[in-house]
Amino acid sequence: MTEELKNSDNQWLRKQIVEISRRLSAEGFNINSSGNVSVRAQRGQKEGFLVTPSGVDYETMRPSDLVFVELKKDAAVFWGKLKPSSEWQLHEHIYRKRPDVGSVVHTHSCYATALSCMEEAIPPFHYMIALSNAAKINCAKYATFGSVELAQHAVDALGEQSLACLLSHHGVIACGKDLQKAFALAREVENLSHMWLLIRNSSGSCEMIKSTEMDKILEKFKHYGQTGTNVK
Ligand SMILES: [Zn+2]
Repeated sequence: MTEELKNSDNQWLRKQIVEISRRLSAEGFNINSSGNVSVRAQRGQKEGFLVTPSGVDYETMRPSDLVFVELKKDAAVFWGKLKPSSEWQLHEHIYRKRPDVGSVVHTHSCYATALSCMEEAIPPFHYMIALSNAAKINCAKYATFGSVELAQHAVDALGEQSLACLLSHHGVIACGKDLQKAFALAREVENLSHMWLLIRNSSGSCEMIKSTEMDKILEKFKHYGQTGTNVK
């Protein structure tokens, strides 16, 4: 894990998570208390992540309601007054498998979730697919919400480098080095999903971007990291 991914569990970070959770709700990404947000953090000597609690409305959520999940070698320990999100294992599996990930945003945003019900990857029809750090956005196999199986399928769909995937008949996972980037990617996946549904439902044809060109775009994104990733 790089130094830049090391956040401390503090009030500033907790406020950021609450603010982004409210924005996801305000922008219609998460209805009621669906979806969840986490950031990798340290609490003293404990390594883990802060995650939104289970079943708490984003409007009334307070920074102190967040749960710190300590990642021990063979177990997870919860620190907080409330239960963590029912999908805490999704976040846990990603942080354990992907040291490059510093934040995970899970949404049920409308267009991306509609696509997830078709159980298909979003192909390279638009260059911004590369914001996910891969040439397509995979769709994880179906498993019951809140299950370890779902967490494993999500990790498989993300693979070694992708920062986003769909969850069959469920929603979206967007990751990033930090919370702002994960949030920006969640927004972009929704935007791309909207476009892809429009294309699928039109009578026009759509050629995919060739893999050599996608490789070029992926390389370019590495060098222009801030392109399209800042939340305005
Ligand atoms: Zn969900």
